[in-house]
Amino acid sequence: MEDLYLCMQKQNINYTSVRESIYKLFLEKKHVALSATEIVNILNQKYPKKISINTVYRHLRVFLECKLILSVHDNVKTTYYFLSTKNSVFQICTQCSQVQKTDREVCHEFQDADFITVHKKCKKCLLNLNKGS
Ligand SMILES: [Zn+2]
Repeated sequence: MEDLYLCMQKQNINYTSVRESIYKLFLEKKHVALSATEIVNILNQKYPKKISINTVYRHLRVFLECKLILSVHDNVKTTYYFLSTKNSVFQICTQCSQVQKTDREVCHEFQDADFITVHKKCKKCLLNLNKGS
């Protein structure tokens, strides 16, 4: 939460409960990719007041500027957002386009990378492929 308050101070924007709720979602779902649509759906289950996707995009842009979160694009141009951590490795499935954060270690050559995306089939798709053959 501390990071969020610093970010809002730096950007000179006010605290809002929506902003905090979105950030909390990232803290809760550390390893899960969240698209803006998913964030809207989760928030609208929790909030009596409807939150629009444009509002969510606006908040996400602020988070991105503060480097609180990272954005990863999948093969069908959906953008997913993750809590920002150093040297993260993301995997995008070349079959179903699912985006996941992996616990892979970054090799020496890429130590200075902000984050890395690997394009390969996810476990589920590999399993289905093996079943089919
Ligand atoms: Zn897959």
